[in-house]
Amino acid sequence: PIYFDYQATTPVDPRVFEAMKPYYKEEFGNPHSDEHSLGWNAAKAVTRAKEQVASLINALPEEVLFTSGATESNNHVFAATMMANKTDRRTILISSIEHKSVSEPAFFYAELLGYKIVELPVHPTGLIDMECYKKLLDEDVLLVSIMAVNNEVGTVQDIPALSNLAHEQGVLFHTDAAQATTNQLIDVLAWDVDFMSFSAHKMYGPKGIGALFIHTALLSSLPPLLHGGGQQNGLRAGTLPTPLCVGFGEAARIIAREIETDIIKYNNARKALINGLIKNKIKFKVNGNSSNTHPGNLSITILGFNASELVNAMQPYFCLSTSSACNSGTNSSNSTTLQRIGLSEDEIACTLRISFGKETNIKQINFLTKILARNTKIKKKAIQ
Ligand code: PLP
Repeated sequence: PIYFDYQATTPVDPRVFEAMKPYYKEEFGNPHSDEHSLGWNAAKAVTRAKEQVASLINALPEEVLFTSGATESNNHVFAATMMANKTDRRTILISSIEHKSVSEPAFFYAELLGYKIVELPVHPTGLIDMECYKKLLDEDVLLVSIMAVNNEVGTVQDIPALSNLAHEQGVLFHTDAAQATTNQLIDVLAWDVDFMSFSAHKMYGPKGIGALFIHTALLSSLPPLLHGGGQQNGLRAGTLPTPLCVGFGEAARIIAREIETDIIKYNNARKALINGLIKNKIKFKVNGNSSNTHPGNLSITILGFNASELVNAMQPYFCLSTSSACNSGTNSSNSTTLQRIGLSEDEIACTLRISFGKETNIKQINFLTKILARNTKIKKKAIQ
């Protein structure tokens, strides 16, 4: 089948796979064994990988904590900030369209540790309601968490503006950038964020590894994420998975060099699909924001056609989705983003998420358009 679900995950780039291979075989040493060459070689590889990942986001290597993925990074931000807090601040602001790996730990730790979570409303575009945000940012707020790019409709937030406002009030700022690494070259200094989560498998790297950027100024004030042998400067104990680290590093190196051409590809694919749907007289509505949006994402509502049924009918040829992978398998009406940007239950049930990647080409788009047109016409005939 042709893959159109790059926001759920991306395939491992063949160059990434090649770079990882030796660390499963001849270079299998423990990167924390410091008495022999196999250990030293693995340690060198991990150090280099951390430098590559740090360089992609303009951070220092010591500001990058390797984790198992964005979910772990997000969980840690809430646990660590709420536990380490020595001020009277007891409110955490999160956007109302966060991925569950942000909202679930936020509510969990807030209840456990005695904090209040307030969700920030968004406009129908998916952009944060700035007026409301400014009003809610007061001296009781400890931390703000707003995703950089939405995983369902692709809306890109103005992170520097949002983090600036938070810092004016002495508030910490975290962003979940899991979907943002394929959309722009991220500069954590320009963004002025305190924490940022991201993940290798969303950027042509392996599954099972991600990172949490922690600003140097905060490194010594946070409790460890995992207690044990003191690896990663005592912040997250446990033997690092050398092949995954190397793969993440290589993926970061490649994306830094190729992102501009990738973005042109995504834009072309998105435009071609929209034009194809118009040409085929399919009645659809594009969800999210018309300008600041991830070009690799297209969320469309085709009223009258249940998205789960469409995805299922087209499944032999295509991998499409109705909403984010974490909600999938149930039904698209579970989508919080679509609800929060104001779609009705009917519209949500008729919404497809199509995403484009490095491998997407015009031939594939034309085939998708053709099959979509066929599937949205068959039913019309049947009900006429
Ligand atoms: N945050 C967002 C916005 C995502 O889209 C995802 C992936 O589904 C995650 C977090 C979770 O990432 P991971 O699979 O690396 O835990």
